[in-house]
Amino acid sequence: MTTDGGGPTATTVQADEPRWYLSRYDDHVHAFDPDQSSTAYSAALCSHTAPNTRIICTDHGTRCLACLLIHGDQLADRNGDVSWRL
Ligand SMILES: [Zn+2]
Repeated sequence: MTTDGGGPTATTVQADEPRWYLSRYDDHVHAFDPDQSSTAYSAALCSHTAPNTRIICTDHGTRCLACLLIHGDQLADRNGDVSWRL
């Protein structure tokens, strides 16, 4: 494996990408901000909040529709007019 610093691949997670974790409050997988590890509670893109003790580090389960839509908008804004939008 090379470390040529090439662009992200399908399996690469960027540092500022949300983390898809299961909230035991509503049993849905939400997109949580990765910069909340020092807080007792974490907030998802959809404003769902949960104490870190109720968040499970798995993305298996039903995904939150609001988080999916918000994250999709963020990806579109970040990447501009790319071929998948044509
Ligand atoms: Zn959500």
